[in-house]
Amino acid sequence: MAEPKPPQFRPETLAIVSGYDPETASRSAKPPVYMTATFTYPSAQSAKDVHRAYFDGDGPEAGGALHIYSRLGHPGLDVLEARLAAIDGAEAALAYNSGMAAQTAVALAYLRPGEAVVHSRPFYSGVDGLFNEIMPQFGSHAEAYTDGCDEANMWAACERAMTKGPIALLAAESPGNPTAALVDLDLLVKVAGRIEAAQGRRPIVMVDNTLLGPFHQRPIEHGVDLVVTSLTKYCAGHSDLLAGAITGRKDLIEPLKLQRLVWGSHLDPYTAWLVLRSLETVHLRTARAMENAAAVADWLRAHSKIAGVTYLGFTPEGSPARAVFERQCRGAGSTFSFRLHGGEAEAFRMLDRLKLLKMAVNLGGSNTLICHSASTTHYAVSPENRLKSGITEGTIRLSVGLEHVDDIIADLAQALEAV
Ligand code: PLP
Repeated sequence: MAEPKPPQFRPETLAIVSGYDPETASRSAKPPVYMTATFTYPSAQSAKDVHRAYFDGDGPEAGGALHIYSRLGHPGLDVLEARLAAIDGAEAALAYNSGMAAQTAVALAYLRPGEAVVHSRPFYSGVDGLFNEIMPQFGSHAEAYTDGCDEANMWAACERAMTKGPIALLAAESPGNPTAALVDLDLLVKVAGRIEAAQGRRPIVMVDNTLLGPFHQRPIEHGVDLVVTSLTKYCAGHSDLLAGAITGRKDLIEPLKLQRLVWGSHLDPYTAWLVLRSLETVHLRTARAMENAAAVADWLRAHSKIAGVTYLGFTPEGSPARAVFERQCRGAGSTFSFRLHGGEAEAFRMLDRLKLLKMAVNLGGSNTLICHSASTTHYAVSPENRLKSGITEGTIRLSVGLEHVDDIIADLAQALEAV
């Protein structure tokens, strides 16, 4: 894999300045929104040259800003994609109309009939369903590993997969949603090498970086090929839009761009602009949310009605996961789960009493959001697989936001009285 160039500026700066030149837009200090479906040409020859450059990469327009029809790309997407790549330290990026559109793009492009995906579990339920229910309808198969810090556990899943066909995709969500289970990204890349030695072809290594986001975990620096991020979460950060990104190796991203124009899953001009705006502050918002989350997690852990808190910051000292956490993560995140003594009835009683915290399934927004995992985000996952992922009937997921931390804790305290 070609080494990504070291960025001239740090990611916090790149999030504000990269990918946009005011000279291209009437010296507007900020990128404008181009609300158009299509772009005009000064001559028939220039129309042909733009198409030639877009599809064949050569001719007089090659290397220029190639705008034809917004499904094929638009100026807002150019700026956003340059910025996403710069922040992640990646060679290239693509923006999609949701995180699932981005995940689906990778699966459809790189998982063929007879091939396997080996993935961590828990993985966001939409992706778990994509790998285990939808893609098998096209002839691929999936195997899961549940301990992403243990080579033997990961390798056992790979061996099971290779009995049925070659592994095309080695995937991980880290930390996992909602149990904060970590996958060791250095180990993942090492296992990709072992798979290559065993089957004669290296699988593509793909990591879902939604839960920590680009400022607190940097998968490309570990040798991961493709990073998928649901921008809907921390990057957009206000629970008011859906978007997704793929960053990584240029040779893998380019075919995805040509396929995206067929799927029609590009990000539209206005939403692309909103994401750009949010990217400027994502490092500040996530840092504050993480501070709040650390205080809330401490408070919950000490509460008599709470059976356990799975918060990355509580990963036991001396454990393999702790070593991975310290090497790989630049923060403990602000989405975690806790278990009440009791099951669904107790959880529902508590949730129905909340006044400030909103019951909703998104995460990474400015509002603190809370939900009962088994009956919402993981409703479609079988009870057996839920339990394997550590999700019980008493598990509640909390995405801590930016309200004053004392107000968040006060609301949890009064709601827990109902249990
Ligand atoms: N990956 C993770 C870890 C998620 O939590 C989600 C959504 O919850 C997705 C992917 C899918 O993203 P989107 O909802 O933007 O389609």
